[in-house]
Amino acid sequence: MGNYNRKSQNNGSVSYNSIESALIHGGIYGDEKTGAVNTPIYQTSTYMQESLGKHKGYEYSRTGNPTRDALETLIAELESGTAGFAFASGMAAIAALLSLFKTGDTLIISSNVYGGTFRILDKVFSHFGIHYLIEDTADLDTLETKITADVKAVLVESPANPLLTITDLAGVARLAKKHGIISIVDNTFMTPYLQRPIELGIDIVVHSATKYLGGHSDLIAGLVVVNSNELADRLHFIQNATGGVLQPFDSFLLIRSMKTLCVRMARHVENAIAVAGFLKSHESVKQVYYPGLPDSQGYDVNQRQAKNGGAMISFELTDGHDIRTFFSELRLIALAESLGGVESLVCHPASMTHASIPKEIREKVGITDSLIRLSVGIENIDDIMNDLKNALQNSGRNSK
Ligand SMILES: *Cc1c(COP(=O)(O)O)cnc(C)c1O
Repeated sequence: MGNYNRKSQNNGSVSYNSIESALIHGGIYGDEKTGAVNTPIYQTSTYMQESLGKHKGYEYSRTGNPTRDALETLIAELESGTAGFAFASGMAAIAALLSLFKTGDTLIISSNVYGGTFRILDKVFSHFGIHYLIEDTADLDTLETKITADVKAVLVESPANPLLTITDLAGVARLAKKHGIISIVDNTFMTPYLQRPIELGIDIVVHSATKYLGGHSDLIAGLVVVNSNELADRLHFIQNATGGVLQPFDSFLLIRSMKTLCVRMARHVENAIAVAGFLKSHESVKQVYYPGLPDSQGYDVNQRQAKNGGAMISFELTDGHDIRTFFSELRLIALAESLGGVESLVCHPASMTHASIPKEIREKVGITDSLIRLSVGIENIDDIMNDLKNALQNSGRNSK
C-alpha cells in the first residue's frame, strides 16, 4: 500500500506520516481556545452573531457544528478525501448519497450488498424512479457490459457482506472513470486502517461508523468521504437540506473511539486469522469464507488493495449439525446483529441482516440458511476458540 503521508491541519504544529498517528492527531486536533487536548462537545443548536451577516463560521448546528467538524475533517484525512460528512447512522449516510441521483438514474450494486442498502433502493428510492441492478462486481468484464447510458453509479462492498467476496476496487474505479459514472465503496468492513478506496481511484467512501470505527457497540453513526470539491458541495447541500446529522456528543464518542482503531483492528485481525484456521480444519465445518485465507476468492486482489483480510468470517456447518443448537450452545460469543465491536458477535444472515432480501435472491447469491457470520472480537483467543469448539461439538445431531 502507498505511504500514509500528510501533515496536520494545525498550522503544522503536529507532524506525522502514519495512519496510527493520524488516528490520534488528525483532523482538527485539540481546542485552540483553551488548549484542551480533546475536541470539546459543542452542545449547542445555534451561535450568536456579532451583527447582521457577521458570524464566526457557524450559524446553526444542522449546517455545521465544531465537534462534528472535527470528526468530519478527521475521516476525510484518514480516507485521503477532500471532505467528510457525519450522519446519524450508516443508512442516513447512504440515503444522503442516494439523494445525489434523480429519476431515471440506475445504480449498479454488488450482489452481496448490505441488506439495508438493498432495502432502501428497493423500497424507498424506487418510488422516485431511481433503479438498481444487482451484479457480481467481482467480475469486471461482465460489470462493464452492464454500464448502459442510464447507469450513473456503481456501489461496491469489498469484502461484501456476508460471503466476504472481494471486488477489485482499482478496477471498478477505472471502469467508472472510463464511462463517466460515480464509484462508491462501502468501507465499513475494512476501515481506513486496512483499506483506503479513494487512494485506489474511487470517488466516494461510505461507512457505518456503528461498526469498527465506533468499535464498542454503543453508538449508531454514518460517515461519507468524497474525493472532489464538486461532490463535497453537493453532499454538504444534501446533508443540510435533509438534516440527518450526527449529534455533537456522538461525534465526540466517535472521535474518542477512532483514536484506538489501529490497536483494536490489529487484535481483531490476529484473532480472526487464528479462528479462520481453526474453523477450516474442523470436521464440523463445511465451508469457511475469509479473505485472509490464501485459497479464498479474490485473495490476491485483496492483498493488493488492503492491508489484510479483516476480521469478519462466515462459515457453514456440515449437514449433521443443527444451527439453532450451535447458537444456543455459545457461552461467550453473543447472538446479535451488528459487527465490529470489541466483543465477538455471531449472526444468522438469512434471518437477520439479510432477511430483507427475498429468499430467491439470497439463495442465488449464496446466503443459505446454514450460513453463520462471525465478527471476531478482541477477547482472549483461547476463550473464543473454546466457545466455538464446544458449540460445534454439541450441535452435532448425534452428540447427546
Ligand atoms: C451496518 C451497515 C450499514 C448500515 O449502517 P447503520 O449504522 O446500521 O445505519 C451499512 N453498510 C454496512 C456494510 C453495514 O454493515
